[in-house]
Amino acid sequence: MARQVNLLHEAGTPDQYGIVGHPVAHSWSPFIHGMFAIATAQNLVYRLFDIAPDDFRRETLRLFTSGVRGLNITLPHKQAAADLVNELTPRAARAQAVNTIAFFEDTTLLGDNTDGIGLICDLERNMQIDLADKRVLILGAGGAARGVIAPLMERELRSVTVANRTPMRARNLAAEFSDMGKIAGCSFAELQGPPYDLIVNATSASLQGEMPEMPAGLVDEETVCYDMAYGRGQTPFTTWAHSLHARRATKGWGMLVEQAAESFFLWRGIRPNTQPVLEALAKHA
Ligand code: NDP
Repeated sequence: MARQVNLLHEAGTPDQYGIVGHPVAHSWSPFIHGMFAIATAQNLVYRLFDIAPDDFRRETLRLFTSGVRGLNITLPHKQAAADLVNELTPRAARAQAVNTIAFFEDTTLLGDNTDGIGLICDLERNMQIDLADKRVLILGAGGAARGVIAPLMERELRSVTVANRTPMRARNLAAEFSDMGKIAGCSFAELQGPPYDLIVNATSASLQGEMPEMPAGLVDEETVCYDMAYGRGQTPFTTWAHSLHARRATKGWGMLVEQAAESFFLWRGIRPNTQPVLEALAKHA
């Protein structure tokens, strides 16, 4: 995994990194990678690139040919990024979704997926949650959901349910991971209790200020609700979770920082300490 970027470059010229998404203006990744770079004395710049789906392939390749060494990929491009690269790490191949691309000296574009390890680190290390034998509900079947299913299932969960606005995508996703354990896909309306141990919101509904309508009986006082979305104040999902007296209702700041640290490690070969960044971001949460 620790294959390092080792291109020759002019002394003093910062190496270029960034994030491609649409929209992407809300991203805190430049702040996070900026803090990592200062803490580890790496000379790099990290920028936002808003690229629409129709332009994704052409413009992303153009960034690499113009000197960019690594990119994070966010919505809605994670599956398109898996098709763009010419090599996938095993975890990205399993997910068929890429959130990190590294450009190597031999012109290999390596696609990785650090979302899963980011979520697991936040749940287990930062939130002290034991995932074994838990019933987990994942809302959403896009690129982010793809990245987290296998790492979650490796924790020997009791079961995973994937529910999505477009139910066929949830069913297809469940079928893709059915070799790993008990997993099913359905619509939101088909969901039913008993209450889940963990509900992960991997839809982008929170970004649009929305919460999909959910049946009753999914949440009780023991349920941990985790919104991958992040921002100031409550999201529609965390508001929903609080209204049902969930044990915890957490936003995705920790996942964001932990997945970024894994990307940074792939690019620079140095694993930054995430704690100072988590503490800095807590002021914005
Ligand atoms: P995608 O565009 O790939 O997928 C979006 C998903 O959200 C689809 O399942 C889509 O359903 C669903 N969706 C979109 N709008 C609505 C809505 N109004 N109601 C219900 N469902 C909806 O996005 P990603 O999977 O890449 O990202 C999803 C979210 O996760 C984003 O908010 C992103 O910011 C966040 N994220 C956070 C990370 C972190 O580190 N904290 C890391 C990765 C992602 P359908 O299939 O029907 O279109």
